[in-house]
Amino acid sequence: MAQHRGAGGIIVVGGGIGGLATALACARDGRRVRVLEQADEFCEIGAGLQLAPNATRPLRQWGLLDQVVNAGVLPKRLVFRDALTGRELTHLDVGAAFQHRYGAPYVVLHRSDLLDILVAACRQQGVELAIGGLGPGGPQPEPMGGPLLVGGAFQDDQGTALIGDDADSCRTVDGVMGAPPHAR
Ligand SMILES: Cc1cc2nc3c(=O)[nH]c(=O)nc-3n(C[C@H](O)[C@H](O)[C@H](O)COP(=O)(O)OP(=O)(O)OC[C@H]3O[C@@H](n4cnc5c(N)ncnc54)[C@H](O)[C@@H]3O)c2cc1C
Repeated sequence: MAQHRGAGGIIVVGGGIGGLATALACARDGRRVRVLEQADEFCEIGAGLQLAPNATRPLRQWGLLDQVVNAGVLPKRLVFRDALTGRELTHLDVGAAFQHRYGAPYVVLHRSDLLDILVAACRQQGVELAIGGLGPGGPQPEPMGGPLLVGGAFQDDQGTALIGDDADSCRTVDGVMGAPPHAR
């Protein structure tokens, strides 16, 4: 596990794929990180996820690409068809030449498999994972010696950071900026 640097920590609000990946990157940089997930467990609803090289490159850098490839498949070609007739409209080769050109593979896997891999990697890297975080009626998280969310307002007293990855709900952004994005 990396040595933590700096006095304060980073709070990531939202433990989806985005939040966990962000937390992992920060922790690998030596930061103390806490992820607050409103749900009672880390889980992904949905089916498959296509990961292009811009996603698989960081996964490789974090030492997770082998696990991801083992959990998924490496398609050779993506075919786009007319939904009514089935006629091929176009295709995209994503095999060896594609991988060579972009320096990383194109992988398709189940969302929950990627989430499980990220949760395990975060734990291994010392990320604190808190469930039942800031959701409606959920317990107020303890401050980590740095940023603190109080009733939706953000106070930063130690130069640390709060990262909102709560996706569509955007409560973190609302709390910090004082208004929903569409109202600004
Ligand atoms: C149909 C569809 C297909 C897609 N296919 C692909 C694809 O093939 N490849 C690809 O790269 N992308 C794809 N995407 C996009 C991708 O799914 C999203 O970009 C990604 O899942 C977003 O991750 P996230 O962690 O930011 O948000 P989310 O997965 O929405 O996670 C947000 C998390 O924050 C938590 N949360 C919310 N509010 C709070 C709060 N106040 N306090 C604490 N926690 C909170 C939620 O419970 C949730 O766990 C697709 C999207 C859709 C809709």
